[in-house]
Parts: sequence; C-alpha cells; structure tokens
Amino acid sequence: MPGDLIDVLVPVPLLEKFTYKVPKGNQKRKLKRGVRLKVPFGNRILIGIFWNYSDSSKPKRASYKFIKEILDEDALLDKALLDLADWSSRYYHYPLGEVITYFFPPSLRKGKEAKFKESTYWKVTDKGDFFDLSELKRAPSQREGLVLLREKGDLSQKSLRAYGISSVTLNNLYKKELIQKISLEQLPVNSHRIEAIDKKKLTSEQNISVQAISGEFGNDKTFLLNGVTGSGKTEVYLRCIRKLVDQGKQALVLIPEIGLAPQAERRFKELFGDRVASFHSAKNERERLDVWLGAQRGLYDIVIGTRSSVFIPMKNLGMIVVDEEHDASFKQTERFRYSARDIALYRAKLSKIPTLLASATPSVESMSNALNGKYQLLTLKQRATGADLPSFVPLDLKGKALKEGFSEQLLEEIGSELNNNNQVLIFLNRRGFACSMICKSCGWISHCDRCDAHMTVHSNPSHLQCHHCEHKKPLYTICPSCQHNEFESYGIGTERIEDYLKKKFRQFPVLRIDSDSTRQKDSFKNYLKIIDEGKPLILVGTQMLAKGHHFPEVTLVGILDADSGIFSADFRGSERVAQLITQVSGRAGREKKPGKVILQTYCQEHPQIEELLKGDYETFIKKIIEDRASTKSPPFSFHVKLQAESFNGLLSRDFLSSCLDYLNKSQLMNKDIKTVGPLPSLMEKKSGVYRWEISLFSSSRKSLHSLTDHLQSFLYLPKQTRKVRWSIDVDPISTM
Ligand code: ADP
Ligand code: ZN
Ligand code: ZN
Repeated sequence: MPGDLIDVLVPVPLLEKFTYKVPKGNQKRKLKRGVRLKVPFGNRILIGIFWNYSDSSKPKRASYKFIKEILDEDALLDKALLDLADWSSRYYHYPLGEVITYFFPPSLRKGKEAKFKESTYWKVTDKGDFFDLSELKRAPSQREGLVLLREKGDLSQKSLRAYGISSVTLNNLYKKELIQKISLEQLPVNSHRIEAIDKKKLTSEQNISVQAISGEFGNDKTFLLNGVTGSGKTEVYLRCIRKLVDQGKQALVLIPEIGLAPQAERRFKELFGDRVASFHSAKNERERLDVWLGAQRGLYDIVIGTRSSVFIPMKNLGMIVVDEEHDASFKQTERFRYSARDIALYRAKLSKIPTLLASATPSVESMSNALNGKYQLLTLKQRATGADLPSFVPLDLKGKALKEGFSEQLLEEIGSELNNNNQVLIFLNRRGFACSMICKSCGWISHCDRCDAHMTVHSNPSHLQCHHCEHKKPLYTICPSCQHNEFESYGIGTERIEDYLKKKFRQFPVLRIDSDSTRQKDSFKNYLKIIDEGKPLILVGTQMLAKGHHFPEVTLVGILDADSGIFSADFRGSERVAQLITQVSGRAGREKKPGKVILQTYCQEHPQIEELLKGDYETFIKKIIEDRASTKSPPFSFHVKLQAESFNGLLSRDFLSSCLDYLNKSQLMNKDIKTVGPLPSLMEKKSGVYRWEISLFSSSRKSLHSLTDHLQSFLYLPKQTRKVRWSIDVDPISTM
C-alpha cells in the first residue's frame, strides 16, 4: 500500500529530493517512478518528477505541501533511462532534479501533454451502429454521412467534406446521438519501412567492420572505427543500422554539429525513408516534441542529433553511433558539464547494446582504450572511392613576404586550381576581420572591458566584438589613450581573407563559412548547395569546415597558420591541432581528382609539424598517448576541476582555499590524490568575473569520486557565501 508521502525531483540547483503529500483522492493510485507532477515550490509551481514513496519512518511534518497534479499516467522514461539519469547525476556531481530535465524536450519540461498534434474525427456511436437507416429517408445527406462513417471508420471533418458531407449534416447526426467527436493524434510518420537496396559494394575493410559490429548486436561492446577521411565510415554504420532496423530495432546517431544534420539526414532518408528524424536546437518546440515522441514510441527507426539527443528515449534501441567522437562539442561546458560520448557509452552498457565511436582522428581517450583492449579497434586505411589520401606539402614562411597571410606560392597554386575548374578550401581558425585594433601613434589596443582578451575587428557591418563574452562595440574613431585618429588592424581573420581573395580572384566566387556567416537559419544549407554545384570557387572557413563534410570538387586545401595551437598552453593543444589539420585536409581529393594540402609554417622542423606532414595521424596520436602516460596526465589519471567565479579575484581564490582546507582534513585525501591550485584560470577575467580553479587528479576514479562527493557536500552547505559561483567539471576538456 503506497503511503501518502513521496520524494520528488524538482528542477532546482539543490541536491536533495523534496517531500510532498499526495491528496486523498489520488492515494489509491500507485505512482510510477518518472511520472511528471505539478508541485508548489516556494511561491512558484514547478514540474517535478516522482521518484519514490518516502520511507515510512519519515516523520509527517505539517509543512509538507500537497502535489497539485499528476501529469502522466505512465512514466515517459523507461527504467534504463531513469537509471542513466541517476548515474549521470552522481558521475558529474550535478543535482538529479536538473539532470532529469535534460531527458525531456522543452514543452514536456513545461508540463505540456506528451501527445502529437491532435485533430478532430467523427465516429459512429453505438446508437448509430444499430440505427435503422429507413428512419433517415427524409434526410438523404444525413443518411449518406452515416453510411460513409459506418463503412470507412473514423474520418476527419476535412475528409468528410471531400466526400460532400457538410458540417450542418454532421451536426444534425450529432444531435441525434448517432455520431460523436473524438480527438486523434496525428502521427508524423507512415508506419511502413522501406526496403532500400544497398547499391554500393563494400570494400573488404568495410566488410570486416560491418561483420564485427553486427556480430555483437545485443552486447554492450564498444567499437572504435578509425578510418581515414573518406574511407566510408558512414557507409559502415549505415549498413549495420540497416541490419538492426530489419530486426525491428532503432539506432541513435550522435553528430557534433547542427550543420552536419541536413547531409546526414538526406543520406539516411535515401535508405530508410521517412522513419528518420533529426533532433537539434534549430527545431522549434513542437518539432522537437514530435521527434521525441516518435522515438519514444518506436515510430522512428533512426534519430540523428547533436549532444543533447543522447537523452532521447527510444522504445527499442539497438545501437548508438557517435560520429566524429573526438569532437569537443560533445562536452557541455556549462551547468551540467556532461560528455554525450561518455553518457552514450554508459547508456549502451545499461541497455546491453553496442556503441560505435567513429572518427578519422580519434581522441586520445578512445584511442588508448582501443590500444588497451577495452574497445575493439576497427581500421579503414583506404578511401572507399579508391581515391588517394591528399599529399602534404610544407611551405616554409621564414623570410617570405606575405600578402594578407598568403605566400606568393600559395596564391599561385590557388589560381591554377581555379583555372583547372577545381574548388579550393582555405582554412584559418579565426573568425572576424582582424585580431585587434591598434593605435598607430601610441600602441593602444582594443581590449575587452570584461575579459582578459582583445576585441576582434569585424567588417560588414564594422564593429568590435569580444569572442569570449560576445560583447560588441562600435569601432573607435579616436584613440581613448592619446586622441589620435589613425589605427592599424592587427592580425588576420576569415573576413579579411575573404575580402582579399575576392579582389585577387575576381572571376570566382568566395564563400566564407564560419559561425558569423552561418548564423541565419538555412544559410549553411544554402552554402552547401552552391558547393554541391561543383563550379570552381574558394571556400574560406574555420573549424566548421573541418567537420565531416564531403566536398568532391575540392583539390587544394591551404592551411594558413599551421603553427597556432602547437604552442598553446593547453596540454590538449597539439591533439586538437592534429585533429583539425587532418580533418580539414581530408576534404581534399575525395573522389576522382587527387588532393593536395599546403601547410604554411614557420617551424617546419618542429617534431609535431613533421609528424603531421607525414599525414599519419595514428602515429601522431600514439606519440601523444606515450607523452600523457609518462606525465600521468589524462587519460592516465582522472581529473576533476573546481572553478570559482566572482567579481573579485581574491574572493574566488579564498573560497577555493577554504575548499582545499576542508578536503585536506578528510581521510579521503590519500597520497594517490594530487591537487593543483588554487590558480587563476587561463583567462582569469571573463565576462566581467574573475575565475580561479583547483584541479584534483587521481589514478583511481573511485577515490576521486568519493573525494568529490565529500567536496560537494561542503559546497552545498547553506552557510556558503553567495558571492562566489562555483562549478564542478568532471573530465574537463577546456582550460579557458
Ligand atoms: P567517411 O564517413 O569515412 O568520411 P563516407 O561513408 O562518407 O566516408 O564515404 C566517402 C565517400 O565514399 C562517399 O561519397 C560514399 O558514398 C563513398 N563510398 C563509401 N563506401 C563506398 C564503397 N564501398 N564503394 C564506393 N563508394 C563508397
Ligand atoms: Zn593612441
Ligand atoms: Zn569579452
């Protein structure tokens, strides 16, 4: 017999579950874990989640409030997902009441009904079923309507109108209680699966991978598919999913960026018809709810989506694919700092299904798991189309005069490729026009008032913008320091290159693709359409262009600045650069035409640049893994970061010191744990706040987690200062 006190998850940043009373009238009904409830909280009404009946020994306090409403008959999330939420909350040390909201689309978080859009249908009543038609002799149209509904079953007002039955007729039948109105959900998909034929013959490498993966359906096995760019990784998982779908199962495919969704969706739809949906933030609430419901009820065979899709319920999930698994965008870097890749792995474990991590440039973490046998490594060394991998050519910049970042030689190569009707891609991972604005007379630089950073010059419309807090300002006309009015634009960004190339190669279109130029809905899609036409043109872009796109006409990739990143303060810097350069290079020569990559560099002899020039990412990453092993940095130790922000650097620092004192008193602080800090974050001042941090390292995940639990209980003490905002980041990836 369920009691009348229940524990509810409420979406607030507090660790505890909240106790509520169930009103008498509802007490007989046994609530299921996961059901949504309306509950009063402070002076608001919030949507909470029923978690369990309170321990019967719990004292009955008069202050417990009644729940307002039970919103769901049945839980919308199954047990595996509720367990996943619980695990994620404990693993990332983030309140479960907030974590669970990630499992619902926005409209369900607001308490809306978990239903597809409904339409009104007319249905014959019991009375109408047995009604003697001769009684309608004098009302032929009513008679016709009733006969039609008896024959065809339920029909919408619209289709009845198409049969010539007016609403007046329907109302008359309704008054006689011969028909009634019902609301029915409009399902977004037809329920047939299409039998597509796989046209391509798989290469032998692809075949081995497909066999290996499909042999493990039903097991929680992880595969790392490491295939060079264009090796047909997508084709491999499409085939595996085909087999799964034929067994009536579903697949979840995670991709790093919305920009990749249209291409992926198109390719999937060719094979699977309309039982494919994509889920990302560019969709409106209604669309997102429809995809969510369709997945949950098993109407979609495949859901493709960005980071947050890892939480979508699927009725009969058979496999999870994480494409471009190395991509940093799978990690959320604010609030609930989860990694969608790692949550996918745990989800697969709970559901006993395989996970496929795919990349041409696997992360250090995944590659070392493959090398130590935790994952099964599958390798594709050849391009599927038979094309060769592009050749790498270093271009030593020492002593050379540059024009807007370009060497004479690179410009000549661009010209000759264009004249041969080919497309060219120029890569620079810096958006905007110039890095900063400098006063010619006194050397004053356009700093951001809110960050330890320069403001970037943007043209068209011209303004200054900080890339760390997005703060905007008009360009200066007079130097605030010396009142002179002549400025220099220092450094080069994608806008500046675009301007220059447009002047230099007048006959050819130049498309700039970065987060500024693709801000508007569909703009990215439109660019892809132009590229697809295959006419000669120049693409200028940031890392957006490096991700997974297939540009068959690109024969030359120019990398303007191969050196940036190699010398970054972040120990992940060189891994990132290698990934970016390999990925962007992989856009060259993907089909019939051979590709070439030109790397402009000042340090051709640097060992890491030398490695990259060999075009052998695997050797490169294995070296990095050795380095990490020798320095015991992640993944050879586990890392938790505590960051504190406030309007005063000293406050942040002192707060962290008090945390560290607290930890040092604990027995959990054994010699296996290393602490670093408090130190100012790499960019101490950002968006007007001062950030400091402590890092905790350990070779034992378990002891690090116990220590973090202990830390968490301290952080949530009610007496903690409100002047400092803190965050816990488990497996952090950014150092900014
Ligand atoms: P990746 O995901 O590794 O970048 P894709 O699966 O996108 O590679 O394949 C790259 C190109 O090769 C695509 O145009 C694809 O249609 C083609 N392709 C893939 N597999 C084959 C195959 N077995 N035979 C011929 N072409 C293939
Ligand atoms: Zn000046
Ligand atoms: Zn700023």
